[in-house]
Amino acid sequence: MNPSAYTKNQVVSVFQDHPRFICATCSAVLALQDELISKSFSGRDGRGYLIHSAVNVKLGEKEDRSLLTGVHTVADVFCVGCNDRIGWYYHKAADQSQKYKEGKYLLEREKMVKENNWKLDN
Ligand SMILES: [Zn+2]
Repeated sequence: MNPSAYTKNQVVSVFQDHPRFICATCSAVLALQDELISKSFSGRDGRGYLIHSAVNVKLGEKEDRSLLTGVHTVADVFCVGCNDRIGWYYHKAADQSQKYKEGKYLLEREKMVKENNWKLDN
């Protein structure tokens, strides 16, 4: 095991026993499947998943962005393992009907891979 691989970034290994979404680029765990709220959202370039919470991510600058469902105060979300932009975080929604998104993550489908932990050798 190469220790430098662990000091380079802050990726933590969690949720080893649960189906989860991992970063398509660096395989860092990003979210538990249990945290998934909806798969029917639109990301910037394709389908997006609305998710309760995410790990191994960092937030960019807050900004007001005009989305399909109105103006939202969001921040881009980046994977801490590879710095790839993987979606955004909803700080605030202007429209009352969109308030349920506040404090949630929209992660781009194509940035993630689902992992089911079907390995038998552990
Ligand atoms: Zn990554």
